[in-house]
Amino acid sequence: MSPQTSSQSHLIKKIVIVGGGTAGWLAANHLAKNLLTQAPDSVEITLVESANIPTIGVGEGTVPMMRQSLQHLGISETEFILECDATFKQGIKFVDWAKNPTAGKPSYYHHVFDYPQTSDIDLTAYWLKNIKQNGSSYVDTLSIQGRICDAGLAPKLITTPEFQGAASYGYHLDAIKFSALLAKNAVNKLGVKHIKADVKNITQHENGEIKSLLTLDQGEISADFFVDCTGFKSLLLGEKLKVPFKDKSDTLFVDHAVAIQVPYEDENSPIASHTISTALKTGWVWDIGLKERRGIGHVYSSAYVSHEQAEQELRDYIGPIADDANSRLIPMKIGYREKFWHKNCVALGLAQGFVEPLEATGLLVFDATAKMLAEQFPSSKLDMPLIAKQFNQRVAVSWDNVIDFVKAHYCLSKRDDSDFWLDNRAEHTIPDSLKERLARWKHQPPSAYDFASKFDIFNLENYQYILYGMDFDTQMSHFSNRMAQDDKAQQVFTDIQQQAEFAVNKLPKHRDLINKIYQHGLQKL
Ligand SMILES: Cc1cc2nc3c(=O)[nH]c(=O)nc-3n(C[C@H](O)[C@H](O)[C@H](O)COP(=O)(O)OP(=O)(O)OC[C@H]3O[C@@H](n4cnc5c(N)ncnc54)[C@H](O)[C@@H]3O)c2cc1C
Repeated sequence: MSPQTSSQSHLIKKIVIVGGGTAGWLAANHLAKNLLTQAPDSVEITLVESANIPTIGVGEGTVPMMRQSLQHLGISETEFILECDATFKQGIKFVDWAKNPTAGKPSYYHHVFDYPQTSDIDLTAYWLKNIKQNGSSYVDTLSIQGRICDAGLAPKLITTPEFQGAASYGYHLDAIKFSALLAKNAVNKLGVKHIKADVKNITQHENGEIKSLLTLDQGEISADFFVDCTGFKSLLLGEKLKVPFKDKSDTLFVDHAVAIQVPYEDENSPIASHTISTALKTGWVWDIGLKERRGIGHVYSSAYVSHEQAEQELRDYIGPIADDANSRLIPMKIGYREKFWHKNCVALGLAQGFVEPLEATGLLVFDATAKMLAEQFPSSKLDMPLIAKQFNQRVAVSWDNVIDFVKAHYCLSKRDDSDFWLDNRAEHTIPDSLKERLARWKHQPPSAYDFASKFDIFNLENYQYILYGMDFDTQMSHFSNRMAQDDKAQQVFTDIQQQAEFAVNKLPKHRDLINKIYQHGLQKL
């Protein structure tokens, strides 16, 4: 064989994605957008999904990055809102996380999407030194968004163009409808082929690479490259290629969710423009408002509570409107694969890993890794080992970063009303990386130096909201020169208060804006 023919034989001309949940269709969209829109004949992309195995169908909260992805993939915001029953999400309101609940008087803080305002003065250190003791919360001193959420307002006006806002936002959405919209976009606009078939077996080449899928309905489907989006079972990477799973349940204890959907009391009931996360004795409850219904779930550790008791606590949280509603029990595997790209196979979505949905990281990580795969996709198998090595390192950094951040919510809590909360703060359950950071932040507030990696999913601003929302005590031994300008700092805070008042007077109620979008749509960019 001539050298040229040999290198031709390594070209990747056929990609098959297995799985039609949000991860599979996100992968299909990103790969097609990058590979097919430039050179439609260079490669063929096919998505194979079972008609019999349902998608997980939960995953209703996203973060602001989803706006960029929708825009990049050519999906209009109006179309997305209408087709996915989507509403706006401006952050998460954490109820009863910081300390034991007091009857009738829940404590809460917001982790909002708008970053704290910046200035050449160290505003966080200034807040710690001069303002915190007056009882003004961190979020309300440095951002306008907590008050927008508390007032039940939308982050934009009907006249604000698509994907723009007075405050930053992501979405709440119906996960099953989102998969369907992504499928329509990938097939109709981007040229992805779609096959319904159950994969029954997988064949390999002598070198261990995957050769083909054996299906009952469509016979053998071969390809040069495979993307495993088969959910928790990880059919290709986990079961066939035997890439081990790194279990992280000794750090993050929750392992089940029980979910219920309920209608609103009436068609004018307010829709929260943030996720509400309420801590309970052995886990926490998510409460997400879509246009016609709320999706509510109790995420808990089965080592500390029975499934029956967990469901009862969820029903107690919701009240009588849940009396006739069916519940769904969802087991969860917490951790990630030792490698995400092995030989000619990459796993995305739940097949890659999963961490409890406290900060809605599922879609965020899967969207980011699908984009990274698409942008770095090799044209030849000869380039694969180096790209795979880098991909594996970067995705592992992202997962460890997510695990540290989620664990921080438990470590910072002062709750001691159950073994679940006490055990969560046991030293041996806390990753060293997080322990070191928390030790450092006892003496100085977090700074950009603590977040050197571009692949950290959660950064300085996210930690600031959580630390100071949960009343973390930073005892600064010295105050930087950048804080010495009291007048200037005071002026910044006064400006933020004025901006907040302006926003609260101008912005519409969240439900009113959603109704208007159904009537008129948003202006295209
Ligand atoms: C309780 C819970 C709450 C969550 N909340 C959030 C949240 O708020 N925000 C967020 O971003 N994420 C959340 N997630 C994560 C979210 O659900 C996932 O990101 C998302 O749904 C991706 O799922 P998936 O596509 O990987 O897998 P699935 O949805 O499980 O899809 C698997 C696909 O593989 C196919 N398949 C499986 N076996 C075969 C076979 N043999 N042959 C052919 N096809 C096959 C199935 O038919 C299906 O199409 C949550 C997850 C859980 C468990």
